[in-house]
Amino acid sequence: MRPEPIRVLVWNEYRHERDDPRVRALYPQGIHGALADYLRRQGFAVNTATLDEPEHGLNEAVLAATDVLIWWGHVAHHEVQDAIVARVHRHVLNGMGLIVLHSAHHAKIFRALLGTRCDLKWRDIGERERIWVVAPHHPIAEGLDESFTIEHEEMYGEFFDVPPPETLVFISWFQGGEVFRSGCCYTRGRGKIFYFRPGHETYPTYHHPQVLRVIANAVRWAAPTSGPLPTFGHHPSPPEPL
Ligand code: ZN
Repeated sequence: MRPEPIRVLVWNEYRHERDDPRVRALYPQGIHGALADYLRRQGFAVNTATLDEPEHGLNEAVLAATDVLIWWGHVAHHEVQDAIVARVHRHVLNGMGLIVLHSAHHAKIFRALLGTRCDLKWRDIGERERIWVVAPHHPIAEGLDESFTIEHEEMYGEFFDVPPPETLVFISWFQGGEVFRSGCCYTRGRGKIFYFRPGHETYPTYHHPQVLRVIANAVRWAAPTSGPLPTFGHHPSPPEPL
């Protein structure tokens, strides 16, 4: 058992909720506010940060006090400063967990960590999505049934241009016939990364109990562990006597 609650930072570009009354009606406190409320009720220590704050709310002290960063972005990926992306990147390599949601597949930080275009095909006509668990042993699938449905969502279809996930936890099927690798685990350095597909801003997806359960499970999975710190570079003293 960890002695302290996992420290979560929910980051959101927070534009649709201010610009679009439909989105504001679903998320009056923003997507970050809805996720933070839920995660606090699960016992996590949660803060939020948004794009328009100084340094996007991601200064060194904030990141140093974060175990798991959750990222939602869509229309303003290009406004995220490269220096801040580099800072987040360094924290992930040093062990901070990162959960990348929905349209944050195009976030600079996700593309930098994965090294591919992270592009996909999409269509938004409110199709039904059925999410299948394909790694039932995995902690991110804890407490779920074999599959669950979201009545209305945007479609994301293959090919999803990401490196093959180290563990694929979910595959989505959409009413129109496409499929998508919708729950992808990676490690980079000491950090764990989970991409989770659902969450288009005009649907109440972040009020869906199974979707929220997956995000909470992913926070627990992505939290840093107390394994050994790696040493790099010239190492003149061998561990065995010569
Ligand atoms: Zn979307």
